[in-house]
Amino acid sequence: MVTPGPARAEPPSAVPAADGAVPAAITEALILAGRAMDARFWVPATAGNLSHRLDSESLAITRSGCHKGHLSPTDIMRVDLHGQPIGGGRPSAETLLHCQIYQVFPQIRAVLHSHSVAATVLSRAPATTIRLRDYEVLKAFPGITSHETAIDLPVFENSQDIAGLAGAIAPHLAAGLPGFYLIRGHGAYAWGPDMPTALARLEALEFLLTCELESRRSI
Ligand SMILES: [Zn+2]
Repeated sequence: MVTPGPARAEPPSAVPAADGAVPAAITEALILAGRAMDARFWVPATAGNLSHRLDSESLAITRSGCHKGHLSPTDIMRVDLHGQPIGGGRPSAETLLHCQIYQVFPQIRAVLHSHSVAATVLSRAPATTIRLRDYEVLKAFPGITSHETAIDLPVFENSQDIAGLAGAIAPHLAAGLPGFYLIRGHGAYAWGPDMPTALARLEALEFLLTCELESRRSI
């Protein structure tokens, strides 16, 4: 597993903060998760982004343009569930994709986005899904209890029109995506009910994608 893992953040406050303040425990969870992702080469340069739900109406997310392996508290800001900044600042370009996941799944509290080599290369193939079959690590995902199964990882077309991209993803989320998807030639999204679980699911996904990449290379 990824070490050191982020501490579990405190439960969200029931009362949204009027300013851009982010609780220290959630800031720390995001900083540690960013370091863990950087240590695995999942967020090169300033790529990728991380977020954590704060309450029913807002989330904390990394600002645009900062390196995720070297986050400081000032690199993390508060936005509402429509991506509008609370207290100023410019959030990550893909903030709307995070907001969409929190809107659809009230129980989700952490969303991670990677730009790994495996996610980028594998998703460049023209298929709209990548089948992951008979891997032991599939058991890291909810509802899977045996390696004797297969999941079809969805691949959405990349776009700089993030609202348009969210529109393409929406029906799949509504149908109950299992906690992750890829964007073609771009990277992966994974989420969970807390930061350690989101990080573990991203780690499992990245491991499986690396296995697929290696196996296709050897064929
Ligand atoms: Zn991205």
